[in-house]
Formats: sequence, structure tokens, C-alpha cells
Amino acid sequence: MQLFQKIEELQKFVLTHKTQSRRVGFVPTMGYLHEGHLALVREAKRKSDIVIASIFVNPTQFAANEDLSRYPRDEAGDLKKLDEAACDAVFLPSPEEMYPKNFQSKVSLIEITQGLCGAHRPGHFDGVATVVLKLFNITQADLALFGEKDFQQLAVIRQMVKDLNLPIEIVGYPTQRSPEGLALSSRNSYLSEEEKKQALALSRCIKELQEAVQKGEKNVSTLLTLGRKIIEQVPEIKIEYLEIVDANSLKPIAKIESEARVLIAVKLGKTRLIDNGPL
Ligand code: AMP
Repeated sequence: MQLFQKIEELQKFVLTHKTQSRRVGFVPTMGYLHEGHLALVREAKRKSDIVIASIFVNPTQFAANEDLSRYPRDEAGDLKKLDEAACDAVFLPSPEEMYPKNFQSKVSLIEITQGLCGAHRPGHFDGVATVVLKLFNITQADLALFGEKDFQQLAVIRQMVKDLNLPIEIVGYPTQRSPEGLALSSRNSYLSEEEKKQALALSRCIKELQEAVQKGEKNVSTLLTLGRKIIEQVPEIKIEYLEIVDANSLKPIAKIESEARVLIAVKLGKTRLIDNGPL
């Protein structure tokens, strides 16, 4: 596995493979890797000839009051895991490499970033879209893998690729969970053992809503009341939002008809957790 810190060096590596008509798969991450990330790498490997992963804690997607400075990091552990997952190259740029002095551009999506996490994290998706577009351009990837765990992020990237005619295929991958159901996340490392048990209310809520829909409940406001009740059984959890939306537009719906999705964001102590599932 090869490591690159400089854009130019990675571009040379990519060019060598591209001239040999190799399909390049890409998995962008912020590091502190877990099975969710590694599942994306393995899937990218199945779908392409060469896999590049990036590890970059992107400062522009964190607001001033968020956890940028304490975001967990473990470069040595991450590199070992990526190597074992048969990743071919890792891009580890510094913030200065990605945002040199006098950097001025921003990618901003208008509608799909309005609600859900976008409403609670102003500027977050501008930071995400900008860095992902840069990474797509740097890696020249044919295919990029994103987790459904960050469902709005996946929708934002799909929209950007469509709007800007980017020559890349976006593949979404199902959320990987602990055996108990907790969606794997680097931020779970902030949680105590007790909080990890409390956080299971999110996946329990999704599961119970899925069961209610299967039994015939189609009314979204009834479902949301049920969902809130399940989460409120754990008083330590503060709901940021609990919404049921159209899975493509991410707009709120009143009735479950076609593809619907429940999305949840909460605070548990100082830790912000998100989860979602199909209904
Ligand atoms: P992050 O390092 O949190 O920015 O995540 C990097 C990529 O891994 C994103 O596409 C995430 O959606 C994806 N990801 C994170 N957690 C999971 C998970 N539990 N299951 C599947 N994909 C995930």
C-alpha cells in the first residue's frame, strides 16, 4: 500500500494506472477507521482495479462550536487496517495541502442541504461538497463509495455529481452496525459503555417504525409520535430531529407511499449521533 501526502505525487500514481485503463475506486474518510469504513474499501475493491482511500479531517465542514480539535485520530491503526483490507493507496493531505493560502472557492447546494443536518449544522455541507469535489478531481476516480449512515451526505454528493456532470459513479453502501444494532461511527469512541447502551434507542426506534409500517401504519405523524416515544424512554438523549422524508428528495412527507426514510439526529451528553433507515 502506498502513502501520499502531496497532491502532485498522488496524481502521478493515478496517471500511471489510468494510462493502463485501470478503474479507480475511491473511499473518502476522516479516519479513526472502523468496520463501516473497511466495508466500503472492500466493496470498492470488488468494483474497481485500484482503490484509493483518503484520511482527512476536513476543517471546513466543522462549525466553530463542533468537535474538530478533539476528533479522534489514529493514523498508525488506520494504515494497518487499510493495508489488511487490500487498499492500494492512501491519501493523507495536510490542511495546508488542501487549502493553501488564498483558497477562495466553495461548492454550495441550494435545496438538498436545507433540512435535517443542514439545518442544524450551517455550512457543513458546503464544506463536505467542496472537499469531496476537490478529492474527486485529485483522484480522478471512476467510482466513489459512500455510506448510507450519512444519508443526507450521500444525497448531497449524488446531486452535486448530477448538477456538475462529474464523470464519476457514486455507490451507496448499507450502514454497518454493532451486533446490538448501534451504527458504527468514529464518534462512538466518545461514548461510555453506559451511553453505548443508551444509544441503542436510535436503532430500536428505526426497527420499531419499520415494523409499524409493515403492519400497515402509513400516517407519518402517528409514526413520528411513536418514534419520539421510543427515544424519549432514554432521558439522557436529546432529540435534534426525527423526520420521515422522501428517500430521494429528502423532503418531508405526510404518508408512506413510495420510498421513505426515517432520519434521526440526537445529542447524548456532548456527542452528536445520527442514524437512519428505510421505511
Ligand atoms: P467519516 O470518516 O465518518 O467521514 O465516514 C467516511 C465514509 O464512511 C462515509 O461515506 C460514511 O458514510 C461511511 N461510514 C461511516 N460509518 C459507516 C457505517 N457504520 N456503515 C457504513 N458506512 C459508514
